[in-house]
Amino acid sequence: MTSDLEKQGRTADQSVDRRSVMKFGAAAAGAVALASCAKENPGRETREGGGKGGPYDVAVIGAGYAGITAARDLAAKGWRVVVLEARPRIGGRTFTSEFLGRKIELGGSSVHWVQPHVFAEMQRYGFGFHEVPLYDLDASYIMTSDGKVHDVAPAAFDALYNDAFNKFGANSRTLFPQPYAPFTNPDVLKGDGVSAAAHIATLGLDPLQKAALNAELVLYAGAPTEAFSYTSFVKLLALASWDSYTFTDSEKHWHIANGGTAALAKAILDDSKADVQLGTVVKEVEQNAKGVTLRTADGQTVEARAAVFTLPTKVYPDIVFKPGLSAAKRAFIDNAEMCDGATMYMRVKKNLGNTFTFCDDPNPLNAIQTEEFNDDIGTILKATLGRQSLIDMNDHDAVTAELRKIHPGVEVTDTAPYNWVKDPFSKQAWPSYKAGWFQKYKDMATAEDRLFFAGAATADGWHSYIDGAVESGIRACREVTQKLAKEDATNG
Ligand SMILES: Cc1cc2nc3c(=O)[nH]c(=O)nc-3n(C[C@H](O)[C@H](O)[C@H](O)COP(=O)(O)OP(=O)(O)OC[C@H]3O[C@@H](n4cnc5c(N)ncnc54)[C@H](O)[C@@H]3O)c2cc1C
Repeated sequence: MTSDLEKQGRTADQSVDRRSVMKFGAAAAGAVALASCAKENPGRETREGGGKGGPYDVAVIGAGYAGITAARDLAAKGWRVVVLEARPRIGGRTFTSEFLGRKIELGGSSVHWVQPHVFAEMQRYGFGFHEVPLYDLDASYIMTSDGKVHDVAPAAFDALYNDAFNKFGANSRTLFPQPYAPFTNPDVLKGDGVSAAAHIATLGLDPLQKAALNAELVLYAGAPTEAFSYTSFVKLLALASWDSYTFTDSEKHWHIANGGTAALAKAILDDSKADVQLGTVVKEVEQNAKGVTLRTADGQTVEARAAVFTLPTKVYPDIVFKPGLSAAKRAFIDNAEMCDGATMYMRVKKNLGNTFTFCDDPNPLNAIQTEEFNDDIGTILKATLGRQSLIDMNDHDAVTAELRKIHPGVEVTDTAPYNWVKDPFSKQAWPSYKAGWFQKYKDMATAEDRLFFAGAATADGWHSYIDGAVESGIRACREVTQKLAKEDATNG
């Protein structure tokens, strides 16, 4: 089943300034210099960025955070840029929507000042932080893998979880003295083949610690932790100054205020001189010595001197590359990622107070956090699932049954799920590396002549995050600029 929100995520244009968007057709004919437009595509919309128009130096494929960052920065360098985005909205795997009159984030949501790239964008455009409840819990629970729920007093919950987490990441500073150069210590490469589950097994944790920690790691893995690269997660802790408190604060406590991820994405795009085409699915790319030709699902041909691909890793097989991508890149695309995750919001009638629950795999709602609670609304809960395929998030009864294991008798009145795995333009949730594949992420990031590759999974730093997407867009701009500037210098 597909929820209304899921349809909206694939079809709604709720992020780009309507004044600057024109339907491709009579009003906009010729406004964007595209090589041809063989078939009518009512879903396609174009925006003139106020730059130089075509012919284009660079085509950016994808208008998630990586794509819009790359496009803005490339256009600011003076290159002629067009963004081709499959969905009729920008933002990619971030998606600000509405639930019971409130803004909710169904994709990437939490941001933090220890994430330098996204924080810089927030500073640049004047966005602050919106706090969600995390501390001062009224109640906390741990569901072990057998489905048994343990009511653990918040102070004890904090103590046992922090102890487990600190043991898991005890060597984060030694392994990652410079997290942005993640392989400085060769032990990282050796540890990459070790799964998170195997590492947990060495820590001597008690059953509740194990359950809470494994629930957290299933989330990051988007898969059973037996498959998850242990060191790739420890790098994230290192990025939070090797400090578990800061790490937890960075992942669960702060959202973007004043319109959320959609508003920040819009601010970035509005500051860009790139032309933008929404509803434009790239199907084929051909490069030769002179340039790149992109063919779209609606029969358009777009020419550019270079292209920046920013797609979720699992989407690449849907595009025909001529010539084919390198063997190393194909291996990464086929093997490296696995994230079956999702986020969903639920409202229950009762005011449950400020609660937090970890549910260990294979229980599906791995982390359940109170977002809002009072006697009028009851409680709004946000669940993060590492393995959404364990439950049908649109099955109200199934979701209610899961919540009743923790809060007996609760009445769930509304739910808001989003299935990123079933969405053809993501096919996965956040980036996560399988054991043994973290060390290969540069294969995905490496340019192949006129084709450049960005996207959160290619980031040196916060690769499961919005921050990693922005970082990768900055890098892609630098690489493309070097290539085209050198070419221009050679050609006089
Ligand atoms: C449920 C969920 C929760 C998350 N939680 C957090 C969090 O709390 N904090 C955080 O920082 N990060 C979080 N993330 C991760 C974060 O959202 C991503 O890492 C980041 O948004 C990825 O950006 P990107 O630009 O690399 O890729 P994307 O956002 O996926 O952008 C790629 C774009 O390419 C487009 N595209 C795909 N195929 C084609 C095609 N053929 N032609 C043209 N365009 C195409 C897509 O429509 C998309 O817009 C979460 C992600 C999910 C899904």
